[in-house]
Amino acid sequence: MNSPAALGPHGALKDDPAVFLAGQMTGVEGYTESTASGLLAAINLDRVVRGHAAVSPPPTTMLGALCRHLREADPAHFQPMNANAGLLDALAAPPRDKDARKAAYAERALAAMVAWRDDVVGAPAAVA
Ligand SMILES: Cc1cc2nc3c(=O)[nH]c(=O)nc-3n(C[C@H](O)[C@H](O)[C@H](O)COP(=O)(O)OP(=O)(O)OC[C@H]3O[C@@H](n4cnc5c(N)ncnc54)[C@H](O)[C@@H]3O)c2cc1C
Repeated sequence: MNSPAALGPHGALKDDPAVFLAGQMTGVEGYTESTASGLLAAINLDRVVRGHAAVSPPPTTMLGALCRHLREADPAHFQPMNANAGLLDALAAPPRDKDARKAAYAERALAAMVAWRDDVVGAPAAVA
């Protein structure tokens, strides 16, 4: 499907905000990408049923960056997309070393995802 044309900002149909789509059919490509978008669709359906607004993770996370691709890609040239660092917001001071750069992207993404999760879903209960 042409997601930038058909879907709202958080993966629901523009003409039916209680119908969330996920997976390969929306233009994410791959096992992990499809599974993650399905989890987000479930979180958002639960939120909408409970009267809350739908949400997406920040674009410094890979899932958030994929959501941005589905939302903001040019509908005339829309193509499915794997997770890749080119989707993420650029680092303020990217390390020159490739491995260090990847680690910096991952560290920033993990911190952003944990903060988003704690805000949206709630922090997990501490294990005794
Ligand atoms: C040959 C091949 C190799 C791949 N290799 C990789 C890989 O190595 N790594 C990777 O990450 N990704 C790989 N992919 C991509 C990956 O398979 C998909 O991105 C992923 O499976 C999509 O998951 P999904 O749940 O969105 O869709 P799907 O896995 O396609 O699941 C959709 C399901 O819906 C069912 N369905 C369809 N229509 C209906 C209907 N009307 N009613 C009820 N059920 C219906 C289908 O039967 C199917 O079971 C590969 C894809 C192909 C084709």
